[in-house]
Amino acid sequence: MFSVTMSEVTKVYPNGTEALKALDLNIGPGEHVVILGHNGSGKSTLFRCMTDFENITGGYLEIGGKVPASFKKRKERSTFRRNIGLVFQHYHLTHNLSVLQNVLFGALGRQPFRKVCAPIASSTLRLEAMNALERVGMESVAGNGADELSGGQKQRVAIARMIMQRPRMIMADEPIASLDPKAGKEIMDLLVSICRENQLTFISILHQMDIALEYGERIIGLNQGEVLIDKGVPHIQRSE
Ligand code: ADP
Ligand code: ADP
Repeated sequence: MFSVTMSEVTKVYPNGTEALKALDLNIGPGEHVVILGHNGSGKSTLFRCMTDFENITGGYLEIGGKVPASFKKRKERSTFRRNIGLVFQHYHLTHNLSVLQNVLFGALGRQPFRKVCAPIASSTLRLEAMNALERVGMESVAGNGADELSGGQKQRVAIARMIMQRPRMIMADEPIASLDPKAGKEIMDLLVSICRENQLTFISILHQMDIALEYGERIIGLNQGEVLIDKGVPHIQRSE
């Protein structure tokens, strides 16, 4: 289980925008945290810094015992990234490929490219991909094109792909912002239960307060690059 340590983390973009201002934040192993905030509050910047897609410009950031700013070798960086399962608003599936192929791609970080290509993927890998699809309720559409699915189904497939990655932590950036309320809740239920089953730390950016209260055990509210609130959610009746 991954923990996150941030001490006086700043991010100043080259144009001078101070997107994160001396953030101090500790997230413990296995915590389920929701990050809330208005547009422009720094949520995506924080997400990109925590997933090593953007460098911080000051302070100290450690995730799962690793310090992205100190990575020197490509291997260190790719191992770090493989340990963090990402979920996006727009799913990032590969169009015009099958559902199964998309899920097999989740194994890319630990298997060579030729081994995850659908016609020649090993039977073990295919079985693993089918199990991942079964976990998200999508096994019956394994052979369909990824483009044929609804938004909720696409997100399920993206989650199955992430399961193939065998992450230690899940980070989601507005995972349900493009979905209707029912599909959105189903996706949140799925993410939370996968994290519970596998004892994964879960950090999700959301903008809906009601969903945040229902699914977060802790809510961090960002405002203009600073932590405005940081509160545990004591006892909320969950809908599961
Ligand atoms: P949120 O995800 O909460 O909407 P962002 O992290 O996208 O917030 O943005 C925080 C601030 O940083 C905003 O003022 C935004 O305009 C600015 N910002 C975001 N990305 C960049 C960038 N690549 N270059 C310059 N400024 C940026
Ligand atoms: P969405 O709208 O689904 O959130 P975007 O294409 O807007 O997807 O991407 C959100 C942000 O995440 C972008 O700024 C992008 O640079 C960044 N991003 C894309 N792929 C990755 C990745 N694999 N890991 C971390 N950040 C990523």
